[in-house]
Amino acid sequence: MSTYTKVLTAIDLTEEAPQVLNRAIEVCKAHNAELMLCHVVEPVGYAYGGDIPMDLTELQDQLDAAAKEQLDNYGKRHGVSEENQIVTVGRPESEIHRLAEERKVDLIVVGSHGRRGIQLLLGSTANGVLHGAKCDVLAVRIT
Ligand code: AMP
Repeated sequence: MSTYTKVLTAIDLTEEAPQVLNRAIEVCKAHNAELMLCHVVEPVGYAYGGDIPMDLTELQDQLDAAAKEQLDNYGKRHGVSEENQIVTVGRPESEIHRLAEERKVDLIVVGSHGRRGIQLLLGSTANGVLHGAKCDVLAVRIT
């Protein structure tokens, strides 16, 4: 049986994050793998459309800092080194792909809501991560 050595867990910092993280921890224990956590902060320019001239740097910095603090809390609780707690800015799917390649990860763990109908057509982060991933992807069903 092949084993995983590096597991990248994508955390959205909602109340659903522990479900995804707990599953990733189980996999890491079973494979004696290294656990990495990542959260992608979306650029605030996206939310504001970019058509109003405003300096959003401070707001972006605050969001980054808040995300780092929350990821650090998860990391400390589960013994994840600071180096393996990664906060980046961008589109979640592409950032997760980039990090997985950069860090030579062999499994990505994401949450999945099992969407149907129109919601499924609109896509989800899990779908986006699955398409184009160069390693295995575990989609943890959120209940
Ligand atoms: P969604 O499809 O947006 O409901 O998200 C499903 C899963 O994608 C979450 O449980 C996370 O594993 C991952 N995810 C979504 N957004 C982010 C984000 N900004 N940073 C890291 N992971 C994310």
